[in-house]
Amino acid sequence: AAPHPDAAPHPGTAPDHDVLIIGAGFAGLYQLHRLRELGHDARIIEAGDDVGGTWYWNRYPGARCDIESVEYSYSFDPELQDEWDWSERYAAQPELLAYAQHVADRYGLREDITFGTRVERLDWDDEAGRWTVTTDDGASRTARYVIAATGCLSVPSRPEFEGLTDFAGEVYRTSRWPHEGVDLTGKRVAVIGTGSSGLQTITAIAPVVGELTVFQRTPSYAVPAHNGPNAQRLADARKRYSEIREHSRMSRTGFGCPEGTLLLADTPAEEARREFDTRWADGGLCFSSAFKDILRDARANEIAAEYVRDRIRAKVEDPQLAEKLSPRTYPIASKRMCVDTGYFEVYNQPNVSLVDLNEQPIRRITERGIVTGVTGEAGKAGEADDEREHACDVIVLATGFDAMTGALTAMDIRGTGPTLREKWAHGPRTYLGLMSAGFPNLFTITGPQSPSVLSNMMTSIEYHVDWITRALEHLRAHGLHRMEAAPEAEDNWVNTTNDLAARTLMPQAASWYMGANIPGKQRVFMPFIGGVGTYRQIGDGVATAHYHGFELA
Ligand code: FAD
Repeated sequence: AAPHPDAAPHPGTAPDHDVLIIGAGFAGLYQLHRLRELGHDARIIEAGDDVGGTWYWNRYPGARCDIESVEYSYSFDPELQDEWDWSERYAAQPELLAYAQHVADRYGLREDITFGTRVERLDWDDEAGRWTVTTDDGASRTARYVIAATGCLSVPSRPEFEGLTDFAGEVYRTSRWPHEGVDLTGKRVAVIGTGSSGLQTITAIAPVVGELTVFQRTPSYAVPAHNGPNAQRLADARKRYSEIREHSRMSRTGFGCPEGTLLLADTPAEEARREFDTRWADGGLCFSSAFKDILRDARANEIAAEYVRDRIRAKVEDPQLAEKLSPRTYPIASKRMCVDTGYFEVYNQPNVSLVDLNEQPIRRITERGIVTGVTGEAGKAGEADDEREHACDVIVLATGFDAMTGALTAMDIRGTGPTLREKWAHGPRTYLGLMSAGFPNLFTITGPQSPSVLSNMMTSIEYHVDWITRALEHLRAHGLHRMEAAPEAEDNWVNTTNDLAARTLMPQAASWYMGANIPGKQRVFMPFIGGVGTYRQIGDGVATAHYHGFELA
């Protein structure tokens, strides 16, 4: 790859920075803090105007985390842990954003963050051993190391709807919700998308809107949150916080799920039901950890799926509607499950309707609303009478993200060989989700082929930050300046992650884990499914064995 014309290094001079970090979400903030503590010269470049990442951008009504706040929080500083009171079992976006802001202020991080600036291009100069980082303001800076803390769910997908710009009403994306909020009172609102953001938005706005029309392509399995005040949980957690954190670090999911030890396929139906009932009553994502074989055995998976469908049928009065809201086309937990607070009950409201996009796909958007057409026997494509216009005042796009690789391939990254986009055209290739061969001194936090989105991200973020920090310390201590994933180690790791995924039902879903929500994106299961604790042991083992599989110079 040819170097960028503006990327000429300053021969003989030191790079502008020891480390440049891209992104000021929870990953970037902790990374900056750790490096500064150790005396590295580090700086963050962040596209947004404030810290918080996911929780800065996603301000839609009802936005909240689906991991309990006592666990979806930093563990690195016991004082921080003790001083921050999470008000709800599952924190809502404003509280999560306030927490990120508190962290930035508490550790004085803002002085080393450049806001409102997007990194567009990275050029590696092998001779000088540094990256040139070019930003959208036309400036460029050099750094010996670059750490991409760019987020797994930070680039919204942009599905093409013909005529969207003709729409006379308002259009909002959940992931770019206006900071000042939107008054939807009495309005006719259309929501496209029924993943996690869609579910949360729909549930939150249903009580205030005039009419709500939900456009669903794929229904979601959702378990109840049983959200509520958190004082008791927090007090209990504070009595044994270090034990909770240690357990999470070594667990499969990165949070305190009791892992089922039995096979569902061998468990008597009554007993299985009791276990599911208990987990349903507890609420949250631990539902899918009830039995060992839910993600491995299609029969077991179907039993768990049917349990959830039963629950949906019990909540939705109209049986036909309940059927439409019941997922049938993919195994339960092969897409990230949703955690809901009265989502299905919304459909019992007379002013709420559902459009199943499998029966009536969106044909176009007009000045007045969304036009769908009937498919199959009932409709002949293109005939006017097959079509239906759903008039609305507001369209909400809850259409997801270009997950895991989107923010990385959005940048033009040029290392020693093909660009990152070229290299990853057939799916991401990394060693441990931390580095990719051909891109020396470039680290990724929660990159593809690490547990990342299959886990409590806070646990995975902290682990990667600690791992990268330890690696940089190792380089410094040994007078080394260059680190790169070895191609063979990378090949082995990619094969390992693919093999592990292939032993599960995960690749059967057309999910964002597979890149299936982005037209043209290679379908490959992107995260490491072997579990957070196992991954940690592997990562620690590699570091202890003098960074086995990495080339250091
Ligand atoms: P992000 O928070 O995404 O931050 C990345 C930052 O990098 C962003 O601010 C972005 O602007 C910036 N950036 C990206 N590219 C560039 C560039 N080229 N130049 C400059 N800046 C750039 N995870 C859980 O574990 N539990 C949950 O309950 C949960 N709920 C979620 C709910 C929603 C709605 C979403 C979208 C995600 C959720 N996640 C959840 C995942 C969440 O993304 C992570 O938990 C975590 O916040 C990620 O932190 P991060 O710092 O890695 O990335």
